[in-house]
Amino acid sequence: MAKEELECSFCGRKKPETNLLIAGLDAHICDRCIEQAHGIVLEESKQGSNSELSSELMLRKPQQIKAFLDEYVIGQDYTKKVMSVAVYNHYKRLLQPATDDDIEIQKSNIIMVGQTGTGKTLMAKTVARMLNVPLAIVDATVLTEAGYVGEDVESILTRLLQAADYNLEKAEKGIVFIDEIDKIARKSDNPSITRDVSGEGVQQALLKLLEGTVVNVPPKGGRKHPDQKFIEVNTEHILFIAGGAFDGVERIISKRLNMQAVGYSASKSEEVVDQDNLLQYIIPKDLKDFGLIPEIIGRLPVLTYMNPLDAKTLRAILTEPKNAIIKQYKKLFEMDDIKLSINDDALEFIVEKAIEYKLGARGLRSLCEEILTDAMFELPSSDDVDALVVDKAYAKEKLTKTTLKKLKAVS
Ligand code: ADP
Repeated sequence: MAKEELECSFCGRKKPETNLLIAGLDAHICDRCIEQAHGIVLEESKQGSNSELSSELMLRKPQQIKAFLDEYVIGQDYTKKVMSVAVYNHYKRLLQPATDDDIEIQKSNIIMVGQTGTGKTLMAKTVARMLNVPLAIVDATVLTEAGYVGEDVESILTRLLQAADYNLEKAEKGIVFIDEIDKIARKSDNPSITRDVSGEGVQQALLKLLEGTVVNVPPKGGRKHPDQKFIEVNTEHILFIAGGAFDGVERIISKRLNMQAVGYSASKSEEVVDQDNLLQYIIPKDLKDFGLIPEIIGRLPVLTYMNPLDAKTLRAILTEPKNAIIKQYKKLFEMDDIKLSINDDALEFIVEKAIEYKLGARGLRSLCEEILTDAMFELPSSDDVDALVVDKAYAKEKLTKTTLKKLKAVS
């Protein structure tokens, strides 16, 4: 074929009519067709990923969600169950086809009440991992009303955008974990505060975010959007999970339970109240009495509690989760061809110390680190060591009173 007769095999344009004509084995393609085809590829992959997300979400039923949580979080069965249903319903809502009936499924934002270190953050992280959606973890204590020193509530969405690598579509289906929500409770018992900057005002500001609205979010740093001042983020499909220790709420619960007991006739068979774990009886009213405004409570309709961690649970946390602390250390040693084994008595000793010094689950890691630091420093350089057995005596030797005090101070 003569050169001037070359044409695009897709649109038939002659070579002079194109900017570029690329030759294949026995066909040609022009620049316009390449662009068009590229557009189709992008569109397809976008649709593909959407439906992938949909099917991924729909594939997991509440029991499967719980089974996934079981792999990473020990115990806390009640919260896992409640959370599985809430997450399932939330994403069902997200995927519901537009219908003309008036039934609108409302959001299932969640509030978790439980002492620090009982796995609230871990629960949120695990759900985000399972759904493969971005997660922003924010601390309610840094939030203030607009115009005051601190961060505006919109900064929460900036974090989510960052977690989603500025992919707006992903961010709008993400999860926000608001930690220490109890710290923005109304300080009703302190009437001298005329302007409750960090309390009620922040709760008010949070309201619209929780229920679903379009917010102008400053991308902050804005590397990816240098000429854009704000990004409009719709919070309608963002799942909010709030967590807090609510120190002292037990007193409120106990008071309420006692009052109820008085109200009932003595003959009524009453369940014995488990005084060691009063959180299990929590109801939304207790949160209101604690200082959350009713509107906030209404927008966090799924209320659940975390159990305190006992020795058995702490022991399981050390070894059982998919990425349990001990498994991680074993892997680290394995990379230096050293087989690490930690005897049961050593594990029990670690748990004992975590309880004695009130270090909680968070302390388990620090305790292991203290015990293993010397070995991790020395063994990689010694050629003749291929195993390390940690027993109680070894752990005891490494954990002197001073190190324990130090751990307590930082926890
Ligand atoms: P919280 O948010 O309630 O303060 P975290 O989720 O941050 O607590 O937990 C602190 C640490 O303890 C994390 O490293 C977490 O892996 C571990 N942990 C706490 N509770 C559990 C649990 N139930 N199962 C497994 N690990 C846990």
